[in-house]
Amino acid sequence: MLGFKQSPWLIHYDASSCNGCDIETLACLTPLYDVERLGVVNTGNPKHADLFLVTGAVNPQSADVIRNIYHQLPEPKVVIAVGVCACSGGIFRDCYNISGGVDSVIPVDVYVPGCAARPEAIIDGVVKGLGVLEEKHRDMVATANSIDKVLYVRADKSDAAELLALQKIAYQSEAEIYGDCSLPALEQTLEDLENDFERQPDREASLLGARASQADDSDRMVFLKAVVNGKIIGSVRGHAVDETAYLSRMMVHPYFRRRGIGRRLLDEIEHCFPQARRFETFTGEQSKRNLFQLAKRGYQPFKTEAFAPGLSWVYLQKERQEAVKS
Ligand code: SF4
Repeated sequence: MLGFKQSPWLIHYDASSCNGCDIETLACLTPLYDVERLGVVNTGNPKHADLFLVTGAVNPQSADVIRNIYHQLPEPKVVIAVGVCACSGGIFRDCYNISGGVDSVIPVDVYVPGCAARPEAIIDGVVKGLGVLEEKHRDMVATANSIDKVLYVRADKSDAAELLALQKIAYQSEAEIYGDCSLPALEQTLEDLENDFERQPDREASLLGARASQADDSDRMVFLKAVVNGKIIGSVRGHAVDETAYLSRMMVHPYFRRRGIGRRLLDEIEHCFPQARRFETFTGEQSKRNLFQLAKRGYQPFKTEAFAPGLSWVYLQKERQEAVKS
């Protein structure tokens, strides 16, 4: 943690600023304020940065870039919105092309108001951000130390916001593979995910009509979560139609991968459908690690379907192994 505090590296992005806040931010690096003497380094590579400093309001072009940069920063990370435009959209908030402040796209930890924000305020914001960074780092170490105490339990609608945040982080590695930030998992909204907790699974229209009156909890989507120290670090969901259980959105926080959490989630969700004789899931054709892991759990590919240019889904299935009777 000492390294973070004594030499925080930050990346600065101009979301659509008038340039006022950018000039003030860069003034922090001039000999007058000279934050480099305090160890602050302005890097151009998000993978080297601890702090993400954003100026300007968010528009459709900058929203994608903000998300892309944010997900490339390693954990733990802190986002600092500099200037009233980045905090709330400022004087541009009602413009047709402005969706609001930075927090309309990613979670913001520190707000530095002002138009333009003064260098002293920006430096204060960075110092405050270091406190948040230290707290997040402590939480992550505690979580990592308790990894053998992971609980695998059902999630409910109140977990939707945390599940969605995890989904956006976990699927970033898939976005990198396909060079596409518009994967369905990354585009899903909170409202849509909340609706998934209520929604009956897709069925043939006639089948749904015929059985709607008999629908009960067993017809709903099942969400599982892996929890450690009260934090959700993995999840998977599934639903059953007749004798097939359809599993999807298997995800583990990148910091906690390769510790058997995905494997355990898969086993647990299969146990949630004792009546299923067959399991089906899908993943991207180039997602070699997912394909490898699924093959190890007995899933075999049976069809491939084009989804978008450069992206095809591979569908995999597995028959339930009956216990050998003695
Ligand atoms: S807060 Fe003021 S100075 Fe900063 S980007 Fe917005 S309009 Fe420009």
